[in-house]
Amino acid sequence: MGAVLRAGGISLRRLADRFGTPLYVYDAERIRRGVDRFASAFSSVPLLLAYAVKANGSLALLNRIGALGAGADIVSLGELRRVERAGIPAGRVIFSGVGKTERELEAGLRAGIHAFHAESQAEVDLLSRVAGRLGLPARLGLRLNPDVHSPTPFAYTRTGHAATKFGIPVREAEALYTARADDPNLHFVGVGVHIGSQIAEVAPYLEALDTVLGVVDRLLEGGIALEYVDLGGGFGVAYEADGALDLEALATRVVPEIRGRGLRLVLEPGRAIVGEAGLLLARVLYTKRVDAKHFIVTDASMTELLRPSHYGAFHRIRPVERRAGAPTVRADIVGPVCESGDFLARGRRIELPEPGDLLAVETVGAYGFAMASNYNGRPRPAEVLIEGGEAVLVRERESLEDLMRGETIPPLPGERDVRDKV
Ligand SMILES: *Cc1c(COP(=O)(O)O)cnc(C)c1O
Repeated sequence: MGAVLRAGGISLRRLADRFGTPLYVYDAERIRRGVDRFASAFSSVPLLLAYAVKANGSLALLNRIGALGAGADIVSLGELRRVERAGIPAGRVIFSGVGKTERELEAGLRAGIHAFHAESQAEVDLLSRVAGRLGLPARLGLRLNPDVHSPTPFAYTRTGHAATKFGIPVREAEALYTARADDPNLHFVGVGVHIGSQIAEVAPYLEALDTVLGVVDRLLEGGIALEYVDLGGGFGVAYEADGALDLEALATRVVPEIRGRGLRLVLEPGRAIVGEAGLLLARVLYTKRVDAKHFIVTDASMTELLRPSHYGAFHRIRPVERRAGAPTVRADIVGPVCESGDFLARGRRIELPEPGDLLAVETVGAYGFAMASNYNGRPRPAEVLIEGGEAVLVRERESLEDLMRGETIPPLPGERDVRDKV
């Protein structure tokens, strides 16, 4: 056995022994670097970094991201409550999403969030009514559908073209700003886009920026002055050698346009803050060979990490300790779930591990735990944060009792108490 892989200076073997597997491990230092990259690239404009909570809503991570000065981009009441619990000020919160309920609009207004991003005229109408009823004028922007075709690796993460459910077409949006400019319950403060996820090129952002600034300029001519533009999230990270977006190159093009107009810039990165900060530790249960094909069966599956089976996404997987003399094979690395779509990697070249060995699945900080499920009766895994050379359990592994919480077995009809019968 050679050197042991580490996270934040701590041996992954020791973490597995102490906390069990499957286990999510986050490095606070890498999260800080994720936030700093944005802060320094865009330091010459007023910036609200609204971290997209859906990428990873764990309270400890939200708390640390908020402590670095960031706000949050949320898409539900559940995320609003998380953000409040984690100590992120409501004044830094953007409420996005195509289907906000009346209850969610009300909660956002009462909390005093920075702004809602509305995605339809009907939502604007409802927001106005709720704001009027509460006597709390709503700060809002419209999410545009800029009809940008963003080159994301997967179809489900392209959100900027006309055929998706997201946003309002530009002409319609402009008409809506103008028509509702005098509504005393509405205060139009911004305009936003979000064109997709895991975008590695600058060009689609510039195309979207162009569209957004066109709207800003035309509204200003009509006497409507917005405070900010929001370019959304989607900034690519390095799952493989390439794939990371050049933030500096993006900033070089975006900053002068924003400064020239005296606007504030809002960005909504999720993956780019936490993606590279997380790994998933899995233990090998069995290996087997069917004809020429190797299978490595681990205790982590699609219920801990859905991205490979849902999107066909790639994650690097490395043995935590290398085994001298282990043959390199091409293997499917799979979990115990009863689906042939349950895999972490397919046809992957890897040094053949033995049962009991540990594997580290990398770049899983975003859309990893957040998409975990209980399918096949599997408790969701624990999460550990490494900070200052120490590992802290920030979410307990779910118990078997947790899996049945809230369920009841009603008595058979004939056995029910007569008082229940109406
Ligand atoms: C998902 C989402 C984001 C974050 O996307 P990443 O790819 O994680 O950066 C930002 N804004 C909105 C509106 C989103 O839906």
